[in-house]
Amino acid sequence: MTDITAAAISNDLQTNSSSDLANLPSDTNETIETTNPISDSIVSDEPPTKKCKITSNDKLRLLEDRITSILSCCICLDLSTLPIFQCVNGHLMCASCFNHLLADCKLKDEQTTCPNCRCEISKSNCTRNLAVEKTISELPIQCDFCLQIFLRSEIKNHQSQICLDRPTFCDYSLLGCNWNGAFHSLSSHLTVCEYPNKTGLELIDTIQAQKCLYDDEKKCLETVVDLLSLNQIGVSDLVLKPFRTDDFVAKLYFETSRFTALQYQWQVRARINDNVPHPHTTITRSLSYQLVLKSKINQTIDLKFFILKGPHGDPSTSQIQPIIYHFEFNQNNTETEYLKLPISTQECNRMLSSSSISFRLLMVQLDKA
Ligand SMILES: [Zn+2]
Ligand SMILES: [Zn+2]
Ligand SMILES: [Zn+2]
Ligand SMILES: [Zn+2]
Repeated sequence: MTDITAAAISNDLQTNSSSDLANLPSDTNETIETTNPISDSIVSDEPPTKKCKITSNDKLRLLEDRITSILSCCICLDLSTLPIFQCVNGHLMCASCFNHLLADCKLKDEQTTCPNCRCEISKSNCTRNLAVEKTISELPIQCDFCLQIFLRSEIKNHQSQICLDRPTFCDYSLLGCNWNGAFHSLSSHLTVCEYPNKTGLELIDTIQAQKCLYDDEKKCLETVVDLLSLNQIGVSDLVLKPFRTDDFVAKLYFETSRFTALQYQWQVRARINDNVPHPHTTITRSLSYQLVLKSKINQTIDLKFFILKGPHGDPSTSQIQPIIYHFEFNQNNTETEYLKLPISTQECNRMLSSSSISFRLLMVQLDKA
């Protein structure tokens, strides 16, 4: 770079010196060569002592980049909109990575350590960092659709309500129109959309298909209501606690204590990824559970059961959709197979990272026909 451009840039810096950002110290990143404290170049007419390689605009951008890298999660290296946790030495982790790390280490039977400083990490010794969360929400972010820049605190509202380029479905999608496109082209589509003028006869198939979907949901609800009207109902609030097998490579599993419901003794067991050998190496995680009858019986027990989220809003099981299972217990069949809990990998990691998993089990004994 020649001296002339350096001087021009120095002027540039002066005209922008009113910006607060430009006055912040720039010594956090040693690889960037800049003029020494900018305020110096304002008070004296001396040429800058060091040659400047970046323009003031670059400088603002770089400051933003530097703040971004300072506030990023030390695991996924992203700026997260999730809660941010920190180790006792202040290293930052987003909630998703934090839970994933705790879950991984629980599966490996290892102490969780900070990836930066190797200090011990647990739910009790890591704290949220609200200042970081708030600072991140003030940093700019690009809209996925119109590519304009917004504050992180505004982006959700912009992308869902305001952005003219946001993906949109036709107003008549319920009648079967498959058109979708940017919001700004919706009005021109509506002038040519055929669906408002279709006859009832033409639309009947679409409406039938929709009705089937609603009927299925209604049936599920009716089944639950019917079950609840039966005589023999057991509701148990249970806690799954982690245990390890005494194998050479100890496997993690979960178990409730024995409980009594419908006059019998039961237990629930759960396992991760259906006991694949190294669950911590897989990306997807699942939790499946088994209901075990512990009492001796001579007759059969025809049982429908399902798992619901725990009472008192336990965050470890906040997202369980009920799936009703049916099993006939008898002398020889006292254990159900392992049944998948309908939860996402993230949800599963959240459960794993908690010290115990509480949930509610609803059991209904079917009347003999
Ligand atoms: Zn992360
Ligand atoms: Zn650390
Ligand atoms: Zn936009
Ligand atoms: Zn349409």
